[in-house]
Formats: sequence, structure tokens, C-alpha cells
Amino acid sequence: MALDQDLAREAQAAGCRACGGRLHSALYPRKPRGGPDDLGPSYESRFSFCCAREGCRRRTTPPSVRYLGRRVYLGAVIVLVTAMQAGLTPIRTQRLQELIGVSIRTLKRWRTWWRTTFVATAFWRAAAGRFMPPVRVDVLPASLLDRFGVLDARAQLRGVLRFLSPLTTTSVPLGASLAMAARDPQTMPVVPPPPR
Ligand SMILES: [Zn+2]
Repeated sequence: MALDQDLAREAQAAGCRACGGRLHSALYPRKPRGGPDDLGPSYESRFSFCCAREGCRRRTTPPSVRYLGRRVYLGAVIVLVTAMQAGLTPIRTQRLQELIGVSIRTLKRWRTWWRTTFVATAFWRAAAGRFMPPVRVDVLPASLLDRFGVLDARAQLRGVLRFLSPLTTTSVPLGASLAMAARDPQTMPVVPPPPR
């Protein structure tokens, strides 16, 4: 929530991308799945803004580390659960189903998304070359978690969600996403600086 608040504050301060007008809050209602029962009312919406200027009214939706685009499950759940799938036994699958209500079909769809759709995005094609050694595509997203922070699962998850957050909007260039990921002092992405 705190990370999303930061991202929203930055977007609002920047103003409307079309006309520079002031941005008013225009939350998107959300009903995320997969989280604990006590997430609270702040998870019932996603930050978004609407230009206040008559005749423009363009919407600006900042990147989010909580919601991976329009997916109904929380981004953290999609990253962590798919990362576990290397060892997805029937018992674990059943346990996941009980814990977060996710079906084996959805789990398989997520895995396919990471390894085919995600790797084909312009975002990933531009980002992949900055990881050295290259990130293994066949074990995504586990191979991505390994690149953000060492020995600290929370920092890894924060780093990956920040890194992915531009995927949830269309307005953030890749360089900004890598900078966002690096901003967390506990997160040390193994990403060399872009070539000059
Ligand atoms: Zn505007």
C-alpha cells in the first residue's frame, strides 16, 4: 500500500500527460483475490486520476505493485505462487487451492503467461538484456526473484513487483522502472547500468 501511495503521489504531482492539468482522484474499484482476509478497505480500490480540465478529462493510472494489470489476483500472489510451481505436487496444489482459492487451471495459465506472453512483451525484451547473466525464462518468475535482493524474500518480492509495475500501465519507460526497483535500499537488483 505504501509503495502504491508513493507511485500515486508522483503521478499526481506530474499532472495530466495530455495537457498538464491538475489531476483529481478517480479510484478504480477492485476486489483482489488471494490475499489475507484482513487486507482492509484500502485494497478495495486502485489509485487512478482524472484530469480536472474541462474538455480533457484524460485518465492517468499510476503503476501499481499491488495489482498486476486487470488480473483479479494480487500481483504478489501471482509472482510467489508461480515461482513455487517448479515443485508443484498434487498436495501443494490442493493446499494452494485451500489457501487462496486458486485452481490448477489458473496456476497453469499463470505459468504459461510468464513463459510465453510476458517474455514476448516489449517491456521484457528491453529489460532482459540488462540482466547478467541472463535470466532463465523456463523458470520464471523464480529466476527473477533471485535477482532482487539476497536472502530476504520480502525485498525480493518488493523488487520484482516494482520492476513489473510498468506492465500495469503504459506510461512508464523501462529506465524508470529499473530506477524504481533500485530505489528500495534493501533491494539490490543485479542489473548493470544501461550501455552508453
Ligand atoms: Zn488533461
